[in-house]
Amino acid sequence: MSELKTTVQVRLYPTPEQAAILRAHCQEYISTVNVLVAALDSDVLPDGGKGTSTKDFTAALPSAVTNQAFRDARSVWKRSCALGVIPLLHKPICQWNNQNWRMEDERLVLPVAQDGKVRQISVGCACVALDGTPGLLRIKRKRGKWMAEVAYTLPEPEHTTGVASMGVDLGIKVPAVVHIIGKGHRFFGNGRQQRAKRRQFYARRKDLQKAKKVRAVRKSQGKEARWMRDTNHQLSHQIVSHAQQQGVGIIRMEQLAGIRQRTARKSRGAKARKNNRMIATWTFHQLATFIAYKAARAGIAVAWVDPAHTSQQCPACFRLNTADDRHYVCADGGWTGHRDAVGAINISRRTGLHGQSAGATVASGSDGGRAA
Ligand SMILES: [Zn+2]
Repeated sequence: MSELKTTVQVRLYPTPEQAAILRAHCQEYISTVNVLVAALDSDVLPDGGKGTSTKDFTAALPSAVTNQAFRDARSVWKRSCALGVIPLLHKPICQWNNQNWRMEDERLVLPVAQDGKVRQISVGCACVALDGTPGLLRIKRKRGKWMAEVAYTLPEPEHTTGVASMGVDLGIKVPAVVHIIGKGHRFFGNGRQQRAKRRQFYARRKDLQKAKKVRAVRKSQGKEARWMRDTNHQLSHQIVSHAQQQGVGIIRMEQLAGIRQRTARKSRGAKARKNNRMIATWTFHQLATFIAYKAARAGIAVAWVDPAHTSQQCPACFRLNTADDRHYVCADGGWTGHRDAVGAINISRRTGLHGQSAGATVASGSDGGRAA
């Protein structure tokens, strides 16, 4: 089983004095890397920098950061051989390796160099709950904001002892329907509420756009994205917890590209356009990614299946039917069930991207099955 690595973005709130220090460090860092890359490429630092230590050059950075700059320079230079040009870093960043920083109680503590001395500063940051082994810390400016990019290696999950197969069907009407073979289906999320909230955001932005309040529009977009992200975190958590409780060994989801296509094709007219706007911006991809990620952490395998006709196909005979009532009734008179659960039922039994039969073992898609 491979380790799970993750990167988390954390907003930083440095004081003006700290911001000045960070800015200086970022500038110094990239110019150090650029100078070192040039030196590695000439005979100033021969043999790709073998035998060179950070004592051999100076930078206005804590030694741990200088070490990191040297490591970076070596990898940039090695890549330059493949690229055929010497790459120059432009965007100011600065990196600290795992032993030199810590995050606690909404503070990021890290060493900085100032006037030839190294000292610790404690920068305010957004609240994040992180577990696992911290790795590289990268600080940079993103759209005028200070951000920390934190790499983590998560503890290896125990592979679950669960064997049941669960299908997850993501949609607009019901955000997620799950079906576990032999244990039935369950709905997650409140589609009506989510749609109302999104309409609210959309209407507000339209007003702001008319009033040419560009900044307010952008702010509202950010707010909506954060709300959506929160919602998806909650949903994915609930779904994976449910899977754990029910002894699920594999979660199957539709191959993502299909979701938008399938739903959009059916609809026409003004109502459809409204619907399509929702679909186009709906963050299925994010929800699916969160589910896959949380499943992997719980030791549950993930497989991506062929999304064709999952909500129309009869789970018993594969005939295609359209349900116009609450109930799905197969035309051959055999199978009936809840209309909104058909998709999840079919997904729970599909194996791999091409197979449609039940009973086969874990089939992992191109980007699925991380924990397998
Ligand atoms: Zn049938």
